[in-house]
Amino acid sequence: MAIEILYEKDVDPSVIQGKKVAIIGYGSQGHAHAQNLQDSGVDVRVGLREGSSSAEKAKEAGLKVVSMEQAAEEADVVMVLIPDEIQAKVYEEHIKDHLHAGDTLAFAHGFNIHYGYIKAPEGVNVIMVAPKGPGHIVRRQFVEGSGVPDLCCVQQDATGDAWDIALSYGWGLGGARAGLMKGTFAQETEEDLFGEQAVLCGGLVALVKTGFDTLVEAGYPAELAYFECYHEMKMIVDLMYEKGIHFMNYSISNTAEYGEYYAGPKVINEESKQAMQEILKRIQNGEFAKEFMDDCANGHKKLLEQREAMNDSLIETTGEKVRGMFSWLSK
Ligand code: NAD
Ligand code: MG
Ligand code: MG
Repeated sequence: MAIEILYEKDVDPSVIQGKKVAIIGYGSQGHAHAQNLQDSGVDVRVGLREGSSSAEKAKEAGLKVVSMEQAAEEADVVMVLIPDEIQAKVYEEHIKDHLHAGDTLAFAHGFNIHYGYIKAPEGVNVIMVAPKGPGHIVRRQFVEGSGVPDLCCVQQDATGDAWDIALSYGWGLGGARAGLMKGTFAQETEEDLFGEQAVLCGGLVALVKTGFDTLVEAGYPAELAYFECYHEMKMIVDLMYEKGIHFMNYSISNTAEYGEYYAGPKVINEESKQAMQEILKRIQNGEFAKEFMDDCANGHKKLLEQREAMNDSLIETTGEKVRGMFSWLSK
């Protein structure tokens, strides 16, 4: 399934430049959206809770800071950039009553809309502009004259021009310099969750940790196991990232490449694929979202327990010791 990609020449900047935009939250994404849009000639205000420690930083960047209620009331476009698990509560208490017909409610991740934790009023557009990178990169690339690609989506088109608003917002972020991809809330939410669970965070950490544990349990020194299964990961990933798997294979020895073809499919096998399919199913049917939100409501009990176990594990304590050998890492 190929995706449609648009660039600066395809987008009308005047759409977003003609609107008042509220950025709710001033964290990783919030500071980048607020500053990039303001530099793109958009009328921006940042909505923060009373006593927010971010207010000073936003003012220093020359931004107008108001309450979340006032920001939502004044704005035509309200972009919600606070942690996903608190968005529904903050929306109910501070935003909902200040949305009027013709306004646009915007997100950088589809979780709350896709799983129904936030239900927008009928006359309001619901859009997503999700940069494919962390906030500080979104800001840095913009300042340097380039941009991070955005995924743009429309869930509810009440005014008939919700797509123009989403794409123009993406232009204001600098995303059109790199490419604006057109997608859906379902695709963005489900692919994002699947990627971080099965491959990027869940899969990667489990792979590294299981390899490390296998060597240590077989009697090898933990420090050497750390180098082989953890430390060298970044160098391999960098080669893949820069020039492809074939280039990584060209850089490693023939012995390593032969071992890759022999051992890879034994470790990540048909059973692993079935597990991934099961993970995808639980994301698609909302079971994962419910489990996560229930844990949030329970004070993050499961999350905190598992975080503590991970922090105490041998691979983490070994890593701390080994990384101490590299003075350049701590800089
Ligand atoms: P963050 O954790 O960096 O930002 C949190 C902001 O929310 C801060 O300004 C904080 O003060 C504010 N906040 C925290 N609790 C609050 C409360 N109870 N009431 C009001 N404000 C509160 O968040 P983030 O990582 O920028 O994520 C924001 C959105 O962007 C999420 O939907 C996330 O999925 C999405 N997103 C994040 C990234 C990323 O790289 N971080 C990338 C793409 C999309
Ligand atoms: Mg994510
Ligand atoms: Mg080696």
